[in-house]
Amino acid sequence: MIFIMKRAADKEAVSGVEKQLEQMGCCSVTIRSSEGFIISVIGGNGLEGMQDPALFPGVEKVLHITVPYKLVSREIKKEKSVLDLQDGVSIGGKEVIVMAGPCAVESKKILFTIAEQVARAGAQVLRGGAFKPRTSPYSFQGLEEEGLKILAEARKRTGLKIVTEVISPQDVELVADYADILQVGARNMQNYALLRKLGKQQKPVLLKRGLSATIEEWLMSAEYILSEGNFNVILCERGIRTFETYTRNTLDISAVPLVKNLSHLPVIVDPSHSSGDSRLVPALSRAAIASGADGLLIEVHSHPEDAYCDGSQSLTPSEFQSLMNNIVKFAAVSGRTFKLENASENASEKDFVKAI
Ligand code: PEP
Ligand code: MN
Repeated sequence: MIFIMKRAADKEAVSGVEKQLEQMGCCSVTIRSSEGFIISVIGGNGLEGMQDPALFPGVEKVLHITVPYKLVSREIKKEKSVLDLQDGVSIGGKEVIVMAGPCAVESKKILFTIAEQVARAGAQVLRGGAFKPRTSPYSFQGLEEEGLKILAEARKRTGLKIVTEVISPQDVELVADYADILQVGARNMQNYALLRKLGKQQKPVLLKRGLSATIEEWLMSAEYILSEGNFNVILCERGIRTFETYTRNTLDISAVPLVKNLSHLPVIVDPSHSSGDSRLVPALSRAAIASGADGLLIEVHSHPEDAYCDGSQSLTPSEFQSLMNNIVKFAAVSGRTFKLENASENASEKDFVKAI
């Protein structure tokens, strides 16, 4: 059972309800979230006939949630969550958001070049890994804090927001000092210590679906973050392992409308890791928008052939520019808006493209 406190409820009101529940023999956990106080009752024996919020001063609603991912579910929150990424950028609303950049931050010069190119094409967020979770311990592991500093400088130069991966709980504060969005990679989707740590801070978290994770496991991982009080979570479908070997992963496109039905959280798609092949990225991006995704996470490199990692799935800046021009039209027919505020080209498409 979930008790949602009124917006105005203070700590005193919360401890009053906690005491009431204790006297009824119930075990409860209180979450102080960006949405206000929520009291979760484990089990709920002894609460029969007590679902009337009027019985608990300060309580707005008492809900019986039927799914295991309680706070993530649409049952607790019917309306979609729109996350404010600051400075007029938000995700989960009508507008489609594009995050783009290299797999890894390789050097100042390369990152600044790519950042300027993706900003010019209309991206709102710059991606780039400073801590890289590589399959081989001998592969490039990232520039770590030096990479974070380069990302922060690129933000200053372009105005783009920064999304970058954090791979261990000890680095959460450090990465949060530089990033606007903290990425949890597919390999870390079930690193519960990391998820809990990310839940204890308020920066948005981009949670990628694990390589072989079911939708329920993915949503339960998101629940770890919300249960610690951080409701600012973006879910990212990045392809799953199947028997098919002609693509790096298989984009589970049905996950997009399904998860949007099950959860109030924004859902985005990474067509780059889904396919492993830059030639497939434009078609998968269109499929993502058509299926209702709130955004895209795309790998772009000024010289994909020289990229330290994931060059074969990285778009060149001109391929990215054409994709963006195409997405503008596609978003419109899908009933979404798309802002090309940063774009210097496409003057006629500079403003919002209204849904038709
Ligand atoms: C990445 O975004 O570069 C990455 C490592 O992705 P994933 O965790 O989806 O493999
Ligand atoms: Mn990558």
